[in-house]
Amino acid sequence: MVKIVLDAGHGQGTLGKQSPDGEREWGFNSQVVEAREAKLKAYENVEVLRVDDSTGKTDIPLVERTNKANKWQADVYVAVHHNANTGSWGNWTGVETFTFNGQSVSTKSTELAKLVQPRIAKAMGLTDRGVRQANFHVLRETKMPAILTEGGFMDSFIDIQALRSTDKLRAQGEAIAEALAVYYKLKKKSVETDAYDKDPFRLPDLQRNFNRRSI
Ligand SMILES: [Zn+2]
Repeated sequence: MVKIVLDAGHGQGTLGKQSPDGEREWGFNSQVVEAREAKLKAYENVEVLRVDDSTGKTDIPLVERTNKANKWQADVYVAVHHNANTGSWGNWTGVETFTFNGQSVSTKSTELAKLVQPRIAKAMGLTDRGVRQANFHVLRETKMPAILTEGGFMDSFIDIQALRSTDKLRAQGEAIAEALAVYYKLKKKSVETDAYDKDPFRLPDLQRNFNRRSI
């Protein structure tokens, strides 16, 4: 069993974490986390725990988030964020993935970050700014491999186009799930399960088969 912690940073009401037009960061982060959770459910032997408030009402303190992950004895912690530079519109752009910059930096974190980073850059259609190191709480205080993604700048007039696309945010979440699946060699559940019946992509598949037959 692979135990994966999901963290959409902040809360809906967190001031300062927003685009210059007032779109809150948690709103972007949460869409990514929801897509990732849905995608992870397609794999066997995965357990997920979301440590932010999935309703967005509360900005759960970081220490509570990391304590929960440590107590649960998670295998990996993935926090999803979106960047800001000056808070006013500018032309900076791109996607980053962070690992801890301290002594205890885990090579597992770096390996996972290297799988995640190019996939989310591609999903968002934005510049790949690479894997970086930082002394962030969720990277430092977690006892398991941990990464933090910044899937584009909320105050970039380039990146905000991607952030306003629900398709791209979903693709970003799915890209993170795929990277986790590669890293942990996760197997897809059999197509006969309930998950398949509820899969929103099932209908287009049937449609494609129908079209093929009718040619
Ligand atoms: Zn953030």
